[in-house]
This record gives sequence, C-alpha cells and structure tokens, in this order.
Amino acid sequence: MAPHGRSRSRRTIAAHSAGCRWQREQEVAGNNSVSMNQHVLVTGAAGFVGSHLCDFLLAQGARVTALDNLATGRLENIAHLAGSPGFHWVPGDVENRPLLGKLVEEADLVIHLAAAVGVDLILSRPVESLKTNLATTAAVLETAHAMQRCVFIASSSEVYGRSEALPYQENADIHLGPATTLRWGYACSKAMDELLAMAYARQYHLKVAVLRFFNVSGPRQSSLYGMVLPRFVRQALLGESLTVYGDGRQTRSFCHIADVVRAIYLLSQRDDVFGEIFNIGSEEEVTISALAHKVKQTTGSTSAIEYTPYPRDHSGDYEDFRRRRPDLRKISRLVNWKPERNLAILIHDMVAFEEGKQGKLVPAGPCG
Ligand code: UDP
Repeated sequence: MAPHGRSRSRRTIAAHSAGCRWQREQEVAGNNSVSMNQHVLVTGAAGFVGSHLCDFLLAQGARVTALDNLATGRLENIAHLAGSPGFHWVPGDVENRPLLGKLVEEADLVIHLAAAVGVDLILSRPVESLKTNLATTAAVLETAHAMQRCVFIASSSEVYGRSEALPYQENADIHLGPATTLRWGYACSKAMDELLAMAYARQYHLKVAVLRFFNVSGPRQSSLYGMVLPRFVRQALLGESLTVYGDGRQTRSFCHIADVVRAIYLLSQRDDVFGEIFNIGSEEEVTISALAHKVKQTTGSTSAIEYTPYPRDHSGDYEDFRRRRPDLRKISRLVNWKPERNLAILIHDMVAFEEGKQGKLVPAGPCG
C-alpha cells in the first residue's frame, strides 16, 4: 500500500489544533461505527495476535501498516495478506526512530503489540526481553505524543502477579515477587509500560489506552515460547507426552484470538477509552490438568499425560501462578463485549489448524 501523501506540516498543525484525527472521525461518525476507513499501524504485526488483528482490521475496511522485525513473528502469519488492498508490510524495528516516526505520522491509530512474549523466551533471553519491552513502548509513546496520534499499548495479566483478589479488576492492587526471580521481570516490564502510558495520558493528555490480555490462544500460535495450549495440541498430535508442570491444579482462563481482536476493534471505535486500562480475556477457568485431558479428547490422541517439574525450576527463576481470571465488567459495560467462543471451540480450532499442517509437524526444539 502506498504511503498517504499529506504534507507533514499540514498534518501536524491539524492534529495539534483538534486532537488526533482518529478521535475527530469518531466524533463525526458517532461511537460504535461499524465501518472503518482509518489507517492503523500495528507493531508486532507478524506475531500471533498481530496477524489476526491485521486480518480483522482489513476486513472492517481499515488500511493497515504492519511493522515487525520478525524476532519472534513469522512471515507465514501474514503471507496471505500480501497484495491485499490496504495492507502495507514493513519489515523493521520499532526502535528504528526515523522509520517509526514516518509510520506513526501516516497512521491515525497505533496498536503496539511488539514485545518479547512467552515465559521460555523471557527466561532464556531476559536482558533482551526486558530491554525490548521497555524500549519499544517508550519509543511508541514518545512518537505518538510527538505526532498527536491515538495509541493502544498491549499489556498482560502477568501484571496481577500473585494477587489472590480474583477475579482481577483493572484498578486492583498488584502483587509482584522479587527481582531475583527472573520471571518477575516480564510483569515488571509490562507494569512499567502501563505506568509510562498512564503518565503520558495524565501529563501530556496523550490518547492512550492499555489492553491487558489474559492467556490469548488460537490458530497460528507458536509452541516455541512456552505457551501451554499450542504445546499440548502439538504434543498430542505428535503422539508425545503432554507435559503438565507441577500438580496441574493451577488454573488459567484461555481466550480465543477471534474474540480478542474483536474486543480491540470495538475499543478502537470509542473515544472514551483513553487514559484507561482494560482486561481482555475469558472467565472460563480451567486447571492445566483438565486442559491436557480436553486436548487429548479433542485430538483422539493416545499420548500420555506426564506430570513434571517446570524444566527451569532448578534455576529459581520461575514461579507459577495458581489462578488467573479476569473481571470483564469494565469492557463489557463500555462496548458490550464478552467472548463468544468457549474453551471447547478454542481447542477445536487450534487442533483443526495444526491438523491442516500435518506432515509438516516436527518435534519442537528447546527455546533459545
Ligand atoms: N504449562 C504446562 N506445560 C507446558 C507449558 C506450560 O503445564 O508445556 C503450565 C505453566 O506452568 C502454567 C500454565 O501451563 O501453569 C500456563 O502457562 P503459559 O506459559 O501458557 O502461560 P502463563 O503462565 O503465562 O499464564
């Protein structure tokens, strides 16, 4: 897609005098408009969430610039979009400031998803992971502020840490562990990203919202970085043991990627989301042990279920969370969103997707 040819000075003056164009167009169209002619910059667009978001936004009529350095994203996730009207693929780093500045200026809304994700990656590459999460968000916020653009920052349920105040509410206290346990670095980096976003909102009136994702899963999600559902599906289809860490009684609530991108889209249609944090997830809580059984049942696999200590437990850098469940009242009140797909559908869709790749499946290697 060709860049949009407005002059920098005209655009900048217009933006400063009347807030960001995204919001102005929403005011004209009214909230919850279903069509979209805006231009969205998605960072981390070749990743699992990013690629589905590109699909969804394009289907709504948006123009999408997809930025990714392919550190963990994969070209195959967006290959089907090549040549699509309105889609512009830009391989590159968020930390490339001249490039970021140009792309942000061309966009109406920035959705910042680029990040180091997955416990295995965080533990095997802690320095790069923390630096990536902090530096890219700082760069996006600074640039969005300079260009007066609206921005969504992706965060994670990880920030709730060990809190036992379930279901987790956006304004509840968070409870993080010590810096000597590396896993907490991810939660801290995301909490810092959130605080920086809120600081820009308060101090500079930047139109920024934070999205806290809870265990998002679905087709295309890689099994390489530690996430449990793609791992179990893959293990079951390969006839390998499903590796349940610990006693398997820890719980998570998994949300289908199709519901997640719909939630992002609905929030993007509002002008009253800025300066706010939103949980996006599912309320259907399941133990990891039950999850393994459900995956076995859906695949018809004869794989064993093996209870094993977390592989990096010996390092003292991993701490598991016993439970995790979002309170969805805030997003539900604002945009009437709830997940439409339950866990059974999620597992079914992931199995169908992986089965479609049968023959290409090879055992996953260790991360990093
Ligand atoms: N888990 C597991 N086997 C695996 C990968 C993960 O039992 O092969 C467990 C992990 O210990 C945690 C849960 O599944 O209790 C979810 O792990 P994931 O890394 O997907 O998400 P997070 O811990 O960040 O919620």
